[in-house]
Amino acid sequence: PLVLGIETSCDETGIGIVRGSTLLSNTIASSMDEHARYGGVVPEVAARAHLEALQPTIEAAVAEAGITLDEIDAVAVTSGPGLAGALMVGIGAAKALAVSLDKPLYAVNHLVGHIAADLLTGEDVEYPTIALLVSGGHTSLLLVRDLVSDVELLGETLDDAAGEAFDKVARILGLPYPGGPEIDRAAATGDPAAIRFPRGLSKASDLAEHRYDFSFSGLKTAVARWVEQDAARQAESGDAPAIPVPDVAASFREAVVDVLVTKALDACARYGVPRLLLGGGVIANRRLREVALERAAAAGVAVRIPPLSLCTDNGAMIAALAAQLIMSGHRPSTLAFGADSTLPVTEIQVDEVEAG
Ligand code: ATP
Ligand code: MG
Ligand code: FE
Repeated sequence: PLVLGIETSCDETGIGIVRGSTLLSNTIASSMDEHARYGGVVPEVAARAHLEALQPTIEAAVAEAGITLDEIDAVAVTSGPGLAGALMVGIGAAKALAVSLDKPLYAVNHLVGHIAADLLTGEDVEYPTIALLVSGGHTSLLLVRDLVSDVELLGETLDDAAGEAFDKVARILGLPYPGGPEIDRAAATGDPAAIRFPRGLSKASDLAEHRYDFSFSGLKTAVARWVEQDAARQAESGDAPAIPVPDVAASFREAVVDVLVTKALDACARYGVPRLLLGGGVIANRRLREVALERAAAAGVAVRIPPLSLCTDNGAMIAALAAQLIMSGHRPSTLAFGADSTLPVTEIQVDEVEAG
């Protein structure tokens, strides 16, 4: 089926068009720059930006795919999780488009969409797989037995998301938003072993008790405290205080990466699943990719990393998930659904029309 997907859960307006598992276009407008001066995504600003970007982004995606709108078989949209106001803008547009074209509408889960992105790489995809999704909004470890029917949440962050931790630590170090790329760059010339920062919820006892949940706020606090104490030390010895940014960045990055990879591979071992899929914007992190590939190879786990344009929020992954739902016989969603900012990952499709 030819599906147009709409994604507006955060700060990317993503429109994607797929035919089955073949990617035809993936067009994105981001309001990232508008949020930069606030140091993080501002929900009202994101919602307004989606409203302005939707129409031109749909037109661009349709043109790039070389189709006309009336050719599509279905419309797909993210119904959650995400920012409620941002989600509602995409949902409104999707409903209007589906009604005006008289096409079925599929309301789907954003997190499961991230997993569906892997289908668009053109390579064979096998389940079950463990999936690690890390972005500015989520840090989730999933066991995917079947994309359209069986996704289990193994753990998620109890406080900050991994990308959020990068953004907050960047601010402590005086680096601009978004902090992930800045810290990655600064870390390149730093020593990852310079400072031993805490690995939240990663002791053997934590692993037993918290299973696969994550916590990054303690790490952020540890970095802030270290920087403060180091400044005091420098002042005492009569130096003008300067943060050793490369060493702090490298040591912080190492702690985040260590936790993420340790837990993901522990899940692969515990569930006997020799496959690990990585998704979300933090996958851009060079050290994360490096350590994941290294340690997975040693553990006999195959790692899949889709191209970054499919790892960050996009509409193509939403369309790809809906195409799978259609091909496996799922009915469309009713028009009654709304935005669900805390939609659980087990709800792969929302508000499916009942049979009969
Ligand atoms: P979500 O996908 O949860 O809805 P989002 O829009 O914040 O939210 P993405 O756009 O996928 O998420 O990713 C943005 C996040 O990724 C930011 O927090 C950013 O700092 C982080 N990030 C980007 N590049 C890197 C990098 N090289 N290393 C670490 N983090 C990175
Ligand atoms: Mg984003
Ligand atoms: Fe996302």
